[in-house]
Amino acid sequence: MAPATVTRFAPSPTGLLHLGHALAAQVAWESAQAAGGTFLVRIEDIDFTRCRPAFEEAIFEDLAWLGFSWPRPVWRQSARLPIYAAALHQLEQRGVLYPCFCTRQEIAAAVTAPQGEAAPVYPGTCRHRSREERTRRMEEGQPWAWRLDATLAMAITGPLSWQDALAGSQQADLSVLGDVVLARKDVATSYHLSVTVDDAAQGVTLVTRGEDLFDSTHVHRVLQALLGLPVPQWHHHRLICDESGKRLAKRDAARSLASLRASGLNPAEARQLLGPMPLALP
Ligand code: GLU
Repeated sequence: MAPATVTRFAPSPTGLLHLGHALAAQVAWESAQAAGGTFLVRIEDIDFTRCRPAFEEAIFEDLAWLGFSWPRPVWRQSARLPIYAAALHQLEQRGVLYPCFCTRQEIAAAVTAPQGEAAPVYPGTCRHRSREERTRRMEEGQPWAWRLDATLAMAITGPLSWQDALAGSQQADLSVLGDVVLARKDVATSYHLSVTVDDAAQGVTLVTRGEDLFDSTHVHRVLQALLGLPVPQWHHHRLICDESGKRLAKRDAARSLASLRASGLNPAEARQLLGPMPLALP
């Protein structure tokens, strides 16, 4: 028997939610409802410099206002760092990680191709360092991040596919994001690692999120294979943009759900603003 459908909305409390988040939550909620499944909320608060308790409270308030309900207590990623450390260790044992000592400036200087809005694909500088140099730099106390060696990882896993409800079958392709960081210099985990570990640990069967995270799924699929985790289905939905075609951002507080609510909008009107539901159940 197929497992019961479990979806999740996984915001980071780094700002106020806007209509784009409402759409993400609505897609997760409706996907769960349609299957008689469970809708979870998870707080992704590993970015200690940017997350604020006040934003977390605002998330719950906005979601309740929109009419959602979810099991409590919710999971907070900040409480799960030892679990991510164990997964990182497992990957290290598989030999697919290397320490990266590069600073942001060094990476930017080493990348020549125009990158647009996205972070530059890491040029692989530290992949080529000798074991001796790595050990020396670590012993000297130079801060390092752990990166996934994409080529080695794919050599171990072989070709992998994954299924998106709208885009169909996909071949995992790590060349899009390159050797991503799995543990940062300041926090011993990353979005990619935590989200993969938690979706599996929470039994999430359908990962719904905006299409801006489509490329990340290639990484998550490979991590699932390396860590021996179950493989969910995905549904990457459209994003909500402003009049100029730019996707809504948390820093634009004037467009937050809180300010829409303050201006007198009711939840049904807010849902109307989301447009037709992009539901395409796998
Ligand atoms: N925490 C991520 C964000 O707020 C979303 C993660 C996900 O849905 O996979 O953008």
